Order: sequence, then structure tokens, then C-alpha cells
Amino acid sequence: MSERIEGTVLKRKGSTLQVAIPGGVLECGLSGKLRHDRQLAIAPAVVGDRVEVTQGEGGTGVIEKVLPRKSRLSRPDTQDPKRESVIVANADLLLIIQAVAAPEFDAHIVDRSLVMARIGGLEAAIVVNKWDLSNPPEIERTVEVYGALGYRTLKTSARTGEGLPALRDLLAGRTTVLFGPSGVGKSSLLNAVDPAIHLKVGELSEKTQEGKHTTTWAELMPLPGGGHVIDTPGIEVFGLWGIEVEDLVECFPEFVERIGTCRFNDCYHDAEPGCRIRDAVGSGIDPGRYQSYLKILRGLRKGRR
Ligand code: GDP
Ligand code: ZN
Repeated sequence: MSERIEGTVLKRKGSTLQVAIPGGVLECGLSGKLRHDRQLAIAPAVVGDRVEVTQGEGGTGVIEKVLPRKSRLSRPDTQDPKRESVIVANADLLLIIQAVAAPEFDAHIVDRSLVMARIGGLEAAIVVNKWDLSNPPEIERTVEVYGALGYRTLKTSARTGEGLPALRDLLAGRTTVLFGPSGVGKSSLLNAVDPAIHLKVGELSEKTQEGKHTTTWAELMPLPGGGHVIDTPGIEVFGLWGIEVEDLVECFPEFVERIGTCRFNDCYHDAEPGCRIRDAVGSGIDPGRYQSYLKILRGLRKGRR
């Protein structure tokens, strides 16, 4: 039996996975055992996974084993929503990217993404791009709300360079997932941070519009200053995976200190009388954050019925 080498999955191309090993990259398939396990998981190995491979002829290899994951970003599979579809494994940071305008800033997507990071065991930070277009005070305030909750926030412009040194620092030395709607400037920001990356601006969004989800895959890219970034093309709207209705409240740090103070022990903090969390909306809890909570909660409860 040939020797096993440890590597990292960089990218998926159809049924082939590119795996970085010391000194090179192998085009890999899955071992028979892992293909069998596919009945349990949609994709046994995903971008970011640490794997053990055996090397074959001409730059090929076989993934024999997937090592335990330290974090994951998952959603329900689009074809079979009862099954987990892991998008990215082992990333350290979810970088939630929005724009001041074009497309319109969407705080609900930020809140949903924060929940996703929390469930998956990733840190989260928020980037709002395109500050060269305008300076809307309501978005300034929203950014301050996230800052006060303890999330790292950055205001950037890929056009003027505002905030780019801070973004470079944030990305250095760790694995970051760039996450946000198409058009917010993910490719532009990456190119500005590292001109060697050469992501075509507008490329990610064009692909999405054509609906070619099968040809757009996340990809792990090394940064020259150390660290990696993973883009997530084609992931626009997403369901949450791996969360119980009862645990949602834990994903909202400003709610946590109030858990257990409501009149009813089994309060969902929705329409129940004597809810201390709802009482605090407007004084300690931001109304937009509470609306996001309700929207996610009601979606989860509907899914349960
Ligand atoms: P992606 O889909 O998130 O990767 O977004 P792109 O990087 O492709 O950018 C989408 C569009 O927004 C392009 O036309 C960019 O030139 C533009 N854009 C990106 N960043 C900025 C910015 O900071 N300011 C302005 N005004 N436009 C930007
Ligand atoms: Zn309550």
C-alpha cells in the first residue's frame, strides 16, 4: 500500500478535487470507502478539508480519509434539504461583506450570516464596502451596532483604498471565507488586497446570473503575506443548518444576558406576554436585530412543523 500524505482540499472541479500537498497539487478522486460514505454526506470532502491522500500516476491521487473538521459552513442541500451540504471546512473567519449601495445594504443577511458563523464555529467580521459612493448615516449607525456587539467591523472602498490596510491585516495568517451577495465587491477587494490574485471583477456575479451553480465552486487561495481566502460564488440565499429553534437566541449576544428572565421558561421571545427580550427592543436591543431574530425564528419553526 502506498504511503499516505496529508493535504488540503483547494477546489472542486466536477468530481475531481484539487489537493495541495507539500511541494505540489494533486487531482484527486475519492476512495471507494468515501464514495460509499457519500450516502451519509453530500460531499465527503470539501474545500478547506484536511485529507490523507495516496499518490498515483501523473499528478493524480486518491483521498483516503477526511480528518476531523475544526469548523464548517453548512446549509441544507438544495436538492435534498434534509441533508447537510458543507460549503467550506476549517476556515477561521467568516468575512460578511455588504455594500453601502449597489446592491442595497441588507442587515438581515448580515444577521443570518452571523448565526451561520456561530453555529459553524467560525469567528465573524463585517465589511461594508463602497463608501466612496455615499455616507449614509443609518448605515454608519448599523455598523456601530455590530461594533458594540463585539464584532470587528471595517469600512472599505476598493475604489479609493479606504480601509484596505486594515483588511489586509485582518486576512493575514488565517483562513477567511468571503461571504456576501454578488456585486458588493468581493473580487475587487481581493484584487486590491493582493494584485496577484487576478479575480475578474464581475466574474462571480455573471456566473451566478447564468445560474451555473454546478460550475461555480468555492476555492482556497493563498495570500502572499500568509493566510488564505476562500470565495463562495453562487451562494446568495442560504438556509441555516444544524440549529434548533431553542438555540437561536444564543446566537444573538445581546439577548444572551436576558435569557431566563422572561415570564415563561419556554419563551421564544416572539409574541409571548412578559418577554424581557422584546421589552428591551429599542433600549439595549436594536430593533433591526430583533426583526432579524423573529424572521429566522419563524422560518425555523415553520421548518419544524
Ligand atoms: P463581487 O460580485 O462581490 O465579486 O463584486 P465585484 O468585485 O465583481 O464588483 C461588482 C461591481 O462593483 C464592479 O463594477 C466593481 O467595479 C464595483 N465596485 C467594487 N468595489 C467598489 C467600491 O469600493 N466602490 C465602487 N464605487 N464600486 C465598487
Ligand atoms: Zn422572552
